[in-house]
Amino acid sequence: MIPALMPTYNRAPLSFVSGTGAWLTEADGRRFLDFAAGIGVNALGHAHPALVRALTEQAGRLWHVSNLYRIPEQEALADRLTAASFADTVFFTNSGTEATELALKMVRRFWHGEGRERHRILTFTGAFHGRSTGAIAAAGPGKMTDGFGPLMPGFEVLEWGDHDALHAAMDETVAAVMVEPIQGEGGIRTMPPECLRGLRELCDATGALMVLDEVQCGTGRTGRLFAHEWAGIAPDILLVAKGIGGGFPLGAVLAQERAATPMVAGTHGSTYGGNPLGCAVGAKVMEIVAEPDFLAEVERKGAAMEEQLSALVAAHPAIFAGVRGKGLMRGLACKVTNTDVVAAARDAELLVVPAADNVVRLLPPLTISDDEITEGLARLDKAASALAEQGASA
Ligand SMILES: *Cc1c(COP(=O)(O)O)cnc(C)c1O
Repeated sequence: MIPALMPTYNRAPLSFVSGTGAWLTEADGRRFLDFAAGIGVNALGHAHPALVRALTEQAGRLWHVSNLYRIPEQEALADRLTAASFADTVFFTNSGTEATELALKMVRRFWHGEGRERHRILTFTGAFHGRSTGAIAAAGPGKMTDGFGPLMPGFEVLEWGDHDALHAAMDETVAAVMVEPIQGEGGIRTMPPECLRGLRELCDATGALMVLDEVQCGTGRTGRLFAHEWAGIAPDILLVAKGIGGGFPLGAVLAQERAATPMVAGTHGSTYGGNPLGCAVGAKVMEIVAEPDFLAEVERKGAAMEEQLSALVAAHPAIFAGVRGKGLMRGLACKVTNTDVVAAARDAELLVVPAADNVVRLLPPLTISDDEITEGLARLDKAASALAEQGASA
């Protein structure tokens, strides 16, 4: 018999009852150190006092009004986001997937407005843009698309890192290129800054729109508000979600004016997108994360974590192959099966997440302390030693 909950997830046998900062308490009382942060969602950790206050104050005042009316909390967050980034304008969604869908619609509508038939959207292997029909088509055929065809046409998935393929594909029939500056699900694969700059130049030369998906790598995770800032470039369209809501469902599409010009009244909408609760929390997240001192701390802690991870890899050459990523978005490439490492870490009361390319992802809250980083690494070391012992006795 099918369970009451549709069984689409492989869930670990853990249920958390409360959290503070980087710590989660299981129903049996055990305390887990959270190096997953809801897969990069709880950017400020669990139950951050300023976020609890922002949410409860707003909850006591007003939860929902329709987008038929002005929503001051939404306007305030849009002002914050445009002031802190390349963007001229923002549309709020409830999730990353919805941001992806809007970006795809904007690309179509842009070329429609130009009176040009440009329908090719280039994406890359290992991409993840969400689970809607458009987003799974964008990522290309595989596990996510199996049985869900026919897929939305128009996407061409290029091999990640294949410059020749990119140059061969780029011409004046390309509508847009969509890419994550650092792939999350794809295994913490970083597009080097010089490649992001090269891609920007190719887009400029052909007129193609540059769409960056920073749902996972954005909102301060790399030590800049947005990861593309490291390359000194700006996209035409940027997808944001996960960390921006600090745990409240919130996403956004940020755009330059030119890319958003055809999005006039009636072209898009959302019932819940930009609701007062989400935007009150998002504004507080932005107030904290966009501070230069906060971002500098993320960068410093990220470097410290990288150093400790490198030492861990050196200490366990049979388990780990290397360290990837930037800031507090890190990946451990594994020699053993990555899900075994995740399970061993769980036994050591540390939460981490698997990713493609046999990688274990580390996405601690941006508020994590130096001591907590050291503690997490000690637990990873314990997990690796346990795996090495199992391997030796097998
Ligand atoms: C998680 C994620 C999405 C999808 O976001 P949801 O909020 O789950 O819809 C899209 N792109 C990237 C890069 C992501 O990590």
